Parts: sequence; C-alpha cells; structure tokens
Amino acid sequence: MEDQTFTLTVVVPVYNEAEVLPTLQHRLITVLDGLLKAAWEIIYVNDGSTDNSLEIISNFNDPRVAIIDLSRNFGKEIAMSAGLDHAHGDAVVVIDADLQDPPELIPELIQKWQDGYDVVFAQRIARDGETWLKKTTARLFYRAIHTLSRVKIPENTGDFRLLSRRAVEALRLLRERHRFMKGLFAWVGFTQVAVPYQREPRFAGKSKWSYWRLWNFALEGFTSFSIAPLKLATYVGLLTAFGAFIGAILVFYKTLIFGDPVRGYPSLMVVILFLGGVQLMALGMIGEYLGRLFNEAKQRPLYLINRLTPSILQGKAEEPGPGTLAKPRNAAFSNNGDN
Ligand code: UDP
Ligand code: MG
Repeated sequence: MEDQTFTLTVVVPVYNEAEVLPTLQHRLITVLDGLLKAAWEIIYVNDGSTDNSLEIISNFNDPRVAIIDLSRNFGKEIAMSAGLDHAHGDAVVVIDADLQDPPELIPELIQKWQDGYDVVFAQRIARDGETWLKKTTARLFYRAIHTLSRVKIPENTGDFRLLSRRAVEALRLLRERHRFMKGLFAWVGFTQVAVPYQREPRFAGKSKWSYWRLWNFALEGFTSFSIAPLKLATYVGLLTAFGAFIGAILVFYKTLIFGDPVRGYPSLMVVILFLGGVQLMALGMIGEYLGRLFNEAKQRPLYLINRLTPSILQGKAEEPGPGTLAKPRNAAFSNNGDN
C-alpha cells in the first residue's frame, strides 16, 4: 500500500470568486505537486458566476484542470454534486474556493484515507471571528438536529472533506433536489474521521450567507433528515385536548358548587388565539414538507451543463457530452481498490 500510486480529484465550487482564484490555483498546485504518488485533477464547477471567474479558470490552461460550466447558478450544494458526479479519482476532496479551507490540509486528509477511512472531514477547532449569535444559533441547530434525527451530523464542519471512491459512488445514488450536503455526507456512513484545523477568514470577496439564508439552510437540514416536526401537531393536539378536558371538569364543578356567573372573555380570546396560532404553525410545517415533496415529485435533473472541459484524468473515462446531464452510475460497493 505504501508505494502504491493513486488518483485524486479536487472539486471546487465557484461562484463569483475572481479575486481568489489565481491564489487558490497556485496554492492547490503547490500542494498537489508535492504529492509524489498521486495523479490528480482539479474540477472547477462554475456555478453561473457573473464575474470573469470562468475566464480566469479557462486561462489556467492546465490539462489537469477540468471545468464544468453549469447553465446557471444552482447553489453550492448542487455545484458540489456536479463535481462529484464527474470526479474520477480514487479519492475526492471537496474544498471551498475562498481559501477558508486551507489546501495545505489535503495531505493530512489523504493520510487518514490511506489509514482506511472513507470520509475524512476537516473540523474547525474554534469559530474565531464569529459573533455570539452565530455561535449560539449554530449550537442550538446541532443540538436540535441530533435530537430529532438519527443521522449524526458532526459539529463545526463545513463541506471541506475527502471522500473515498465508494463514498462518492454512494453519494451519487442520492439524487434528491433538496440537498443538505453535510447531512448527506453523514448519511452514507462507512468509517468517518475528523481532522482538526484552523478555519481562515475569507481571503477576498464576500460570503454569500445571511441569517435568512442560514435559517433556510437549517430548515433544509431538518426537513431532509427528520419528520419529527410533522408529528408535533399530534402531541400538541393531544396535550391541548387533555388540558381542555381537565378544564371542563373544573368549570363544571365550579358552576355547580358556587354558581359562578359567566366571565372570562379575555381568557377565551387567549385560548382562541393560542390554538389558532398552533394550528397555523402545524399547517406551515406540513407545508414545508409538502413543498419539498412537490419539488422532488417533478423529477427535474439536478443541474444542466453548459460546457464541460475534461482533464487528462477525466479524458480517460467516457463522459457525457456538453449539454447533457450527468446520470449517476451504479455504485460499486467494493471494499478493495480504495486504498
Ligand atoms: N458557492 C457556489 N454557489 C453559490 C454560492 C457559493 O458555488 O451559489 C461557492 C463559493 O464560490 C465558495 C463556496 O461555495 O467556493 C462557499 O461559499 P461562501 O464562502 O460564500 O460560503 P461560506 O464560506 O460563507 O459558508
Ligand atoms: Mg466561505
């Protein structure tokens, strides 16, 4: 195993990253050239950038660089999936373009993979430079999703990770349109291990995240990996009915014994508004799931490719031509050949 050579694919989703791309390419090449036993390729997935990112990538003019130019902006999760669909390496590394994930960590990820792990994810040591609110909401999110779902999504991880061939093949089988990648990575299982690292601030350009997007991201996480919220209405309803029953007995008793005159308009209002709110909330939750069901039922392809430039590594295998969509190939769950 020691002197065996292997192939490596690095997948980079790119959306308006013109400022960082040259530095990224330089650092990636330095690291990858240092890997003596690897034949490698970098796949840049241009996710409908509106700046000149695509031009910059095309000008790298390196046969080891593959470009997947998506037909429009599909979002990072899908851009990553497009990269994974076209990756041919024995191991595949997914990395952000903005250099928040240091390429210099890749050899360490590979080391773990060679030790026999299928998913090696980079885990932030500290969330420096983030606000208290961001940290707290993140912690709450993970606590909730761990309670509600059986899929254990590791905390403080982004998408920066290495996947073995069989983990990639497994991921390719998951064609859901609502893609919560962190959850999907965890869902495939196999042996997973964390490699701690220091997450850098963004090198240049600006983050595409806002609290509203984070909230929707969290919703995606819950609805993709748990149906517990759907059951909530049942229990809230049961509890309310039980409370109402006890209340009815009390009222009945009070009226019989003390002949209580009719009062309590304000308390009635409170009860009506409370129950109305709870009912609307339950409906909304059903709506969240129904909407996703609607999107999945349409069976649209995950993405469309405008142009595909294969790398030397990719050129060796058969590829879908431009304008076609990548279909998942059947997973080969072989244990050997990975490392
Ligand atoms: N990205 C993408 N499509 C999008 C948004 C982002 O491919 O619609 C890419 C982006 O170019 C970067 C990575 O996803 O490589 C992470 O984006 P960003 O830095 O904005 O996210 P953050 O690091 O703040 O979570
Ligand atoms: Mg970033």
